[in-house]
Amino acid sequence: MAELEHPSWCDLAHCTATRPRPEYRAGETGYHRSAPVTVEQIPNVGDVVFDPELNPLLAHLAQPAPPWEPVTLLNIGTVVEPHLLSLPITRARAALRQLVALADADKVM
Ligand SMILES: [Zn+2]
Repeated sequence: MAELEHPSWCDLAHCTATRPRPEYRAGETGYHRSAPVTVEQIPNVGDVVFDPELNPLLAHLAQPAPPWEPVTLLNIGTVVEPHLLSLPITRARAALRQLVALADADKVM
């Protein structure tokens, strides 16, 4: 059986991917996952307050292991709810570019 290949960003301490098995069921093959990054510049979303020590806002990359389509996702959330926002990385990049363009409108010339 072929070895499982991990994306370059996959952190084996967080990876839950397993080799596909003939009798696999949905969700059984897990996800490649990056190490989580704490997003410290967002203090709250609505009523949810983030605290770097008690309730950090975390982001990580995830990609379903074969046989699922290897779409890389950007997941943002808390320890309890790690997928408050889950976007394919192409959509996440487009959204971030839009926000950066908006923020850059305030640049001092
Ligand atoms: Zn992996």
